[in-house]
Formats: sequence, C-alpha cells, structure tokens
Amino acid sequence: MRVKIKLENLTKVFGDLVAVDGLNLEILDGEFVCFLGPSGCGKTTTLNMLTGLEEPTEGRILIDGKVVNYLPARKRDIGLIFQDYAIFENMNVYENMAFSLRVKKRPQAEVDRIVKEVAEKLYLADILHQDTRMLTPGDLQRVAIARTVIMNPSVFLLDEPLDNLDAQMRITMRGELKRFQKDLGKTMVYVTHDQEEAMSMADRIVVMNRGRLEQFDTPTNIYHHPANKFVAGFIGRLPMNFFYGWLKEEAGKIIFTEKGDSFEYDLTRYRRLIERDLMRDLCLGIRPEHISVAPPNEPDSFEVVVKSVEVLGMENVVGFCLIGDPQGFFRLTTSSELVPRVDEKINISFQPEKVHLIHPKSEKVLI
Ligand code: ATP
Repeated sequence: MRVKIKLENLTKVFGDLVAVDGLNLEILDGEFVCFLGPSGCGKTTTLNMLTGLEEPTEGRILIDGKVVNYLPARKRDIGLIFQDYAIFENMNVYENMAFSLRVKKRPQAEVDRIVKEVAEKLYLADILHQDTRMLTPGDLQRVAIARTVIMNPSVFLLDEPLDNLDAQMRITMRGELKRFQKDLGKTMVYVTHDQEEAMSMADRIVVMNRGRLEQFDTPTNIYHHPANKFVAGFIGRLPMNFFYGWLKEEAGKIIFTEKGDSFEYDLTRYRRLIERDLMRDLCLGIRPEHISVAPPNEPDSFEVVVKSVEVLGMENVVGFCLIGDPQGFFRLTTSSELVPRVDEKINISFQPEKVHLIHPKSEKVLI
C-alpha cells in the first residue's frame, strides 16, 4: 500500500524539554493509526506539527511524498476533529453540515445530495433540521465529524474526540467511527490516552513515552509481543506483573529464582536465548489473565498470599503477594465462581507460552 504520511526524525523542543524526540514512521493510505501514551508523552505536539499549528524543531513531515513543513495548515488538505465540537450554534444541523459547500458556492441540489448522503451514514438523517443547542454530546460530535467529512480532506486528524462523551456513548461512537473510516477509505490519525479506544479502533498503534516512539504495530502484536517493559506495563486492562530474579543452572536445567526466593521457574526451553544474551539477572513478566489458580502438585506452581479480591461480575481480580515479600503486590484474574479469601494461601501457575522474559537493563522484551 502507498505511504500517505511519513515522519522523518520529527523533533520538537520547548526550551529544555524535548517534547517529541526523533520520530520516524510511515502511515499507509487508508490506515487508521492511533497515537497512544500517558499524559505529556508528546501525542498532541506530534499532531499539532502534522496540522501546521506547531513548527518542528527538526525533521520532516511528508504527505503524499511532499514535504509540508512550510505549508500553512489550510494548504495541507487535512480535516481536524477535536473534543470541542466548534459547531455554529445559530445554525441547525443541516446548515452546519452545508457550510463548507455554501462557501464554495456549490449548487443547492449538490449541497442537498451531499448533506443527506453523509447524514445517512452518520445517523443524522432524522435530526437534520434540529437546533444544534438541543443536541446530545454524541450527536454534536457526529455533526462535527460530518462537517469535516463534507470538506473531503485527504487525511483526518482527531485529538481525543470522544473525551466529552459518557462511557456508553464512547463505546457506541468507537464502533461507528471505525466503520465509517473503513467506508470512507481515508487515512485517520487519532490521538488518545485511552488504550481500549486505541486497541478497538486502530489498524496500528503508535505507543509513545517521553516523546519517543516505543512501538508501532497492530493491537494484537502490541498486546502479545510488546517490544519493551514500558509497552508491556502500559498496554492491557490490568498492568503486567514483573518479577525480578536471577538464573542458575542445576542438573542440566536453567532455573529462574525469584529474588526473595519465593518461587523457581524452569526456563530450560529458552537456553539458547539466555546463553546468547549472557544473562545472569532477569525480569519475568506475565499478565494477570495468564496466571491460574493451580492444584498443589502442578509443576512450576507455587504458593502466594491473597491480599485483595475485586468481584467484577464477569471475573474476579485477585491481588496477591509472594510468601517472601509481604509488601509486594501483583494481580491475577479468576473466573467469577472462584472467590478466594483475603490472607488465604493459594497455589498459582503461569501459562508457559505467555511468560515474557525481559532484559533487566535494556528492558527489551526478549520473548
Ligand atoms: P496530554 O494527553 O496530557 O495532552 P500529550 O501526550 O498530548 O499529553 P503534549 O501535549 O504533546 O503531550 O505535551 C508534551 C510535553 O510538551 C509536555 O511535557 C507539555 O507540558 C510540553 N508542552 C506542550 N506544549 C508546550 C508549549 N507550547 N510550551 C512548552 N511546553 C509545551
């Protein structure tokens, strides 16, 4: 597929702060790409450089192969959608949508056809003649999207557009936006700090942290194959558990020993990797949903102490600590029928194919 947007060493410095630090990436034509990361990681600054609101300190932005660094915003053929809808309150839904066509002096028949076509696709057909002051936040956001769609830009940039909506409406709009983007076949760049939003909508996600790109990949790969400890800990409804320890060789086996001696775990199957990286220390990562309560005689299982139980209906989230470290706190999930008691000892095991090995110094995920 054709490259639509290319960022080359894109950098933005504010005084002493490097807000965006040498971003290199290519977004394909028709792709839905989400920029995701904690507050202050540089998502909005990147978007602002794309739109032309901020000038890069270094690097280049190419759209359709042309450098746009010095083009004013209005010449970049970009449609912007923000959480503040910027709707004209003195006009009804129809006139808000028709506005850009009227400015271009398009004939009324064409205005009517385009407005009705877009209204149909965005579920606005029944409220076309309503006063915009009477609309729900969800409908207002749809009108804002419709207005931008009618401008027919070649790229859509959206900055946290669903932030003002309630939880239920956000889920509905998520599905609608994704469907609509595929219908239009346009490239969308979407900034969010909400990972569920990014995971559910994006073809690929740019995970950023402190101005840097940590990983650019599909939601599935980011969840199952995080590139480093930051991504492993950031992505997932519950954070990944990290256990620190060292490796020893015993009777031909390679064994991970947790630093407080709370458990051992057989890693012989990763011998080649461990020998190649000359590892002595290791961080072992496992998601809460990949830890099970196990029978006492199960190989590689061990006892832990329950510290908290959250009953969520569909499942329970159990907080636990290791026997040798009562201050530690980790999580596992269980089916809703299994409700352990606080202070109870339970035996647990890891799903072997879901265990991640993380280099303790470089923090790269090796497996
Ligand atoms: P949020 O979701 O909180 O908006 P973000 O990931 O979008 O976060 P940015 O708004 O891009 O982050 O900000 C990145 C860093 O740059 C932050 O530390 C922010 O304080 C700083 N920053 C942003 N704009 C400016 C500015 N105009 N002047 C100085 N510092 C700025």
